[in-house]
Amino acid sequence: MSNECYRTHRCGHVTESHVGQEIKLAGWAARIRDLGGVVFVDLRDRYGNVQVVFEDGEPLQISKDFKLESVLGITGKVRLRPADMINPDKASGSIEVVASEVRILNPAAPLPFQIDQAEKATEELRLKHRYIHLRHPVMAHNLLVRHLASQAARRYLSDQEFLEIETPLLIKTTPEGARDYVVPSRIHHGEFYALPQSPQLYKQILMTSGVDRYFQLARCLRDEDLRSDRQPEHTQIDLEMSFVTENEVFEVVEELMSAVFSEAAGVTLPTPFPRISYDDAMNLYGSDKPDLRFNCPIHSLDDLVPGCGFGVFEKTVAEGGTVRCLCATQLAGWSRKQVDELEEFVKDRGAAGLARVKVTADGFDTGIAKFLGEDFQSALQERTQCREGDLLLFVAGKWKMAVAALGALRLEISKRADWIPKDTWALAWVRNFPMFEQDEKTGGWTACHHMFTQPRPEDMDGLEEDPGRARAQLYDLVCNGVELGSGSIRIHQRDLQERIFRIVGMESQEYLPKFGFFLEALGYGTPPHGGIALGLDRIIMLLTRSPSLREVIAFPKTTLAASPLDGSPGAISGAQLKELNLQILPRVPDSPKDGQ
Ligand code: ASP
Repeated sequence: MSNECYRTHRCGHVTESHVGQEIKLAGWAARIRDLGGVVFVDLRDRYGNVQVVFEDGEPLQISKDFKLESVLGITGKVRLRPADMINPDKASGSIEVVASEVRILNPAAPLPFQIDQAEKATEELRLKHRYIHLRHPVMAHNLLVRHLASQAARRYLSDQEFLEIETPLLIKTTPEGARDYVVPSRIHHGEFYALPQSPQLYKQILMTSGVDRYFQLARCLRDEDLRSDRQPEHTQIDLEMSFVTENEVFEVVEELMSAVFSEAAGVTLPTPFPRISYDDAMNLYGSDKPDLRFNCPIHSLDDLVPGCGFGVFEKTVAEGGTVRCLCATQLAGWSRKQVDELEEFVKDRGAAGLARVKVTADGFDTGIAKFLGEDFQSALQERTQCREGDLLLFVAGKWKMAVAALGALRLEISKRADWIPKDTWALAWVRNFPMFEQDEKTGGWTACHHMFTQPRPEDMDGLEEDPGRARAQLYDLVCNGVELGSGSIRIHQRDLQERIFRIVGMESQEYLPKFGFFLEALGYGTPPHGGIALGLDRIIMLLTRSPSLREVIAFPKTTLAASPLDGSPGAISGAQLKELNLQILPRVPDSPKDGQ
């Protein structure tokens, strides 16, 4: 093929405007229909597919040897299809290309699975032959959306004077709370690098370095026990800014997300995004990542309960518990069995039961209605704004259980009642998270996000005395009930950073070897700064409505952190082990693999 070319057009670009032209195409035989005297092939490339007809002579002869997914090069004339063969569902549905020449550029072996039936193959098989699955139009579209989103992010941030800077992959450790992947050093005997869980410390040090605005599409590696929505490697749109307040970070991220959503998926996002405190998110929606595509908030009835007439509620509140209620709009018609199922649902989440009443034209009815005093009934009506046809559902007990159970129930009902309108995007900021959380078993404190987060100025005093009270300048971006990113205003003062290390239980003997270099940098003129990291994979998963992260990452791992494609992880040679001075001992029986 010295002076010739493989193709003059892309398969997916051939349209009626080419009728009468002789063109060359190259692509994969996505579908072959052999009708004896004529063979039809759907020739596919990344841009789409077009029907090629082999109806006489050598092309027809050669076409008899076609195998699915073989790579073909054809020359042919574009013509209109007969009226009864037009496919209105396809861009190229009104035309076909009549082959005058054909070459099998590379025959394909029998396929392990058919691309249009990939969902029937096991995940293992699909990942082993990922290159076949990636030819599927849905997968190709996902890669395209990912590309568009990455380019939109780069363009927007670069326009805002952010510098794209790569941070090292071989580092000490980043305390994001997961296990590190480690890499043995050949030169430094017995020593290891960690792969970054995030570029956190480096991006902060870039602020110390005067970079002012940094971003990176950063690969982050976390050795976690995997769930379906986790991957050992993920990508963050990671950014950091100097001399900023929370609101300034929000504004940049809102514009960034608007650019990404619009360029990658044609979605216009209204800005600014609503801002909600962590406390409100928990009290109203029972979650720190509330799904705001529908309303249905949780109501607290604690102030109304004393004297309400229903002993269980009164006792709960008297003993320091809480009574919370959901008003399920127009669900009074649900059968007893349906509501009993909801009761099982909250019981699985620790609730003792799910009390209920229906709102009828004559007031409250069924369930616990007969116990409720008149005053309480009217106060309840006013609090929940319930109307005829609604169903009120109550959980009584400890605060955390009650809001979490009703928060989960709210989501469950929204699915069962089909409340969530299609193609709605509800982005919001959740802010003012607690600074620390307490380990129930040990009583020790850990940072809610990470240890580099600045407490709110008003909570700075008394941090050590009552860590649980302090709120942080910490924020999450959520979308449709999914956390898209977390960030914070950082600590830029060495003494405060050391206080935080001590509150989370580290003494200088521990934190200096780990973070001494960072503390030193803070001491040499680090400006106030803050930032965020947004999960690119999650964003693409939402934008493409994909069921799992694996659909939006070109080469993902299985839930056991393996890659069936290249067989990693794998053993290394004896020579390599020797060079690294490593010895493999028998397996310790508590790796995640053993649990399976
Ligand atoms: N490094 C943090 C994370 O990966 C995000 C941030 O605080 O910017 O969660």
